[in-house]
Amino acid sequence: MLQVEGLVKDYKKFRALSGVSFEVKGGEIVGLIGPNGAGKTTALRCCAGILRPTGGHILISGSDIVLDPARAKSKLAYVPEVPSLYELLTVEEHLKFVAMCYDTIDQFEMRKEELLDRYDLLAKRNELVAALSKGMRQKVAVACAMIHNAVVFLFDEPMIGIDPAGVAEFKKELAGVRDSGGAVLVSTHLLDTAERLCDRVVIMAHGKVVAEGTLEELRRSQHMEGADLERVFLALTEEGD
Ligand code: ATP
Repeated sequence: MLQVEGLVKDYKKFRALSGVSFEVKGGEIVGLIGPNGAGKTTALRCCAGILRPTGGHILISGSDIVLDPARAKSKLAYVPEVPSLYELLTVEEHLKFVAMCYDTIDQFEMRKEELLDRYDLLAKRNELVAALSKGMRQKVAVACAMIHNAVVFLFDEPMIGIDPAGVAEFKKELAGVRDSGGAVLVSTHLLDTAERLCDRVVIMAHGKVVAEGTLEELRRSQHMEGADLERVFLALTEEGD
């Protein structure tokens, strides 16, 4: 569903991504992990069609994000680390606006109570987005990602700033997306969460993929039977330094 092939991204003379390739299939949650500056956000922004790759290809359910961005984006949901929201819309107006952009207003009208309830936004539905707390804003962004019929979901550090109940709800949501056949890519520094939530991880360092697989596969490759993801991650990323 999400195929990244030989992705290269240069910021002027600095090469942030040097030939990154990985895949996320329908029905799986893949964790994108790596030290600060590894290139995770750059890779996600390229996948979301916000940054133009210097080289390589990104396919969203078969549609090329550069060559056919409208079709690719109609199948894609992206929640950035710091969501940019429309400050002067109310919470409900915001969700409605996003639903209109994706031409799914009918579904929104049917599902809005459920969505607002699920993200604990019922009491805030008529408040301006500008007046929301950081965690509430994150919840609005996640709710927006669930409005249209996306099949590929990209989340950049989605659990930062959300309260424990919100995190639990979010994890349930991701599991639901996976169970209904969606492909989920989530970047996180929370390795214990990644270990429990993700089916596989892609580990990046210095703009490259240094390893990928299930925890069991990574343990075997590092001869670290029984180790947790944190220890395997440190072994893999410190070797690269
Ligand atoms: P973190 O875990 O700290 O969020 P990351 O893995 O998401 O890091 P990126 O934000 O993708 O890493 O950054 C990868 C590299 O690209 C870093 O060296 C960063 O300084 C550089 N970089 C990112 N954005 C730009 C930009 N707009 N201009 C120049 N260099 C950039």
